[in-house]
Amino acid sequence: MSREPKSLQDAIVYFSNPDNCIAYLAAKRWPNGVVCPICGSESVSAFNPQRKTWKCAKHHPKREFSVKVGSLCEDSAIGLDKWLTALWMLTNCKNGISSCELARDLEVTQKTAWFMLHRIRLALQDETFGKMNGEVEVDETFIGGKARNMHLSERQRRITGTGGKDKTVVFGMLQRDGRIRAKVLPDRKRESLQAEIKEHVHTGSALYSDEWIAYKGLETDYQHQVVDHAMKYVDGRVHTNGLENFWALLKRGIAGTYVSVEPFHLFRYLDEQVFRYNNRATQDNPLNDSDRFSYVVTKLFGKRLTFAQLTGKLCETPAF
Ligand SMILES: [Zn+2]
Repeated sequence: MSREPKSLQDAIVYFSNPDNCIAYLAAKRWPNGVVCPICGSESVSAFNPQRKTWKCAKHHPKREFSVKVGSLCEDSAIGLDKWLTALWMLTNCKNGISSCELARDLEVTQKTAWFMLHRIRLALQDETFGKMNGEVEVDETFIGGKARNMHLSERQRRITGTGGKDKTVVFGMLQRDGRIRAKVLPDRKRESLQAEIKEHVHTGSALYSDEWIAYKGLETDYQHQVVDHAMKYVDGRVHTNGLENFWALLKRGIAGTYVSVEPFHLFRYLDEQVFRYNNRATQDNPLNDSDRFSYVVTKLFGKRLTFAQLTGKLCETPAF
């Protein structure tokens, strides 16, 4: 038996009982009954309350399993109470949460908190959804670049890179009254931007962009209209204000909460902010904190992120 916590305070109290954590996760993971994570069999013993595990009836290695097997917290020594509290906080705090704050709140080291947050961001990664249509805003922005405050060797390392010098290009597409998609790109050239638009926006849609030269030529496939900054408030529909608001939110989150973000990790913060935007409460979809949390919990399973992947060269991030 499990129930849905209604607030952070409620979640902390509820998940302070390890059995509640297991019951909650199991109900989200296996809504139709427990299934062996190794072989998929439904022939599974009843829950063993001493060992906190189930056992598959088939004979294969690792047939005894806990709810953490195959989840983002599988090999973590941190208790589920802390994982679920961290998940609630990151999912619902509008400007995100820093590893220092989380470390203090959960009484873990800052390094542990940092790793937990990155794993949770993986759960927040947006699933694929269909192409955008109707009215779509497109825009690109630069993130980073506080080179003045950087140590000299660090500055040289970053600034000699290709592309936007020490800044990172982020490209966004926003369907009005719909979802946003944002991504780190190696540059803001025509081929890069237009490839993204063609992949994610239905031909024939209304497309609004600024006058950046890389958007030239889109009028053959789209009803492309360019924002005239001098005329912005005259033609009410042709603007990119939705994306500009999103960039402001993103930059506020990064500057205020995270202080600095390595370009290497930027896409994870982007995933986090995109998730919050796409799962915000709207008139058609009045989601609350409890709904968002419950949804993210279902996304904890079937993904892995090791410390080596996070800090090493195995990452799927584009090269800078
Ligand atoms: Zn099995």
